Amino acid sequence: MPKPTVITLPNRKEELVSTILCCRQKSYEGTSYVSFDGSPFVIIDLMTLDDVSVDLDSETAWAQGGATIGQTYYAIAKASDVHAFSTGSGPTVGSRGHISGGGFGLLSRKFGPAADIVVDALLIDADGRLLDLKAMGGDVFWAIRGGGGGNWGIIYAWKIQSAQNRNNFYDL
Ligand SMILES: Cc1cc2nc3c(=O)[nH]c(=O)nc-3n(C[C@H](O)[C@H](O)[C@H](O)COP(=O)(O)OP(=O)(O)OC[C@H]3O[C@@H](n4cnc5c(N)ncnc54)[C@H](O)[C@@H]3O)c2cc1C
Repeated sequence: MPKPTVITLPNRKEELVSTILCCRQKSYEGTSYVSFDGSPFVIIDLMTLDDVSVDLDSETAWAQGGATIGQTYYAIAKASDVHAFSTGSGPTVGSRGHISGGGFGLLSRKFGPAADIVVDALLIDADGRLLDLKAMGGDVFWAIRGGGGGNWGIIYAWKIQSAQNRNNFYDL
């Protein structure tokens, strides 16, 4: 099993940006995110970026990319008895990889998969730019919600909408 040269644990989005820019500068062919041929590579561990903030007025929550779906469920349940997050059932699963692959769970038949209740995201692209939905555009926003993890940049945070509110879904 190849071992990374470095494992970084960024505490702030600025540290994520620095890691990306450093990898780009030092990585031949931009392969630093994965390696099957013995080339050096870096793992960015987002476990410390796990804040989930719930806003009951707008019935939305921002979940940082390192929050597990269990942490997200817990933060929403602590804030409200009546709001829910439509997603999978493995609490240890990371919200980022899960949502970017769809995220299907017990509420999904009624409210859709987790990817469908994401209403905004903060993505750091290969140039180190922090992009929200408006800045990244509809195509990239569509791709990060189902296109799989590790392809389009690093998700710094997802903005998710209460499952019950899905009828008010935005129109891209
Ligand atoms: C115990 C268990 C239970 C599960 N239950 C369900 C379920 O109920 N429903 C369901 O739909 N699926 C379920 N899954 C599947 C799960 O959704 C996928 O395995 C998902 O990819 C896990 O995401 P992760 O972030 O934890 O994994 P990782 O392996 O860390 O990430 C998956 C991919 O996303 C990339 N990635 C991770 N974080 C970021 C980021 N911030 N920015 C950019 N790329 C990133 C990684 O590089 C990798 O390519 C389950 C998996 C497990 C292990």
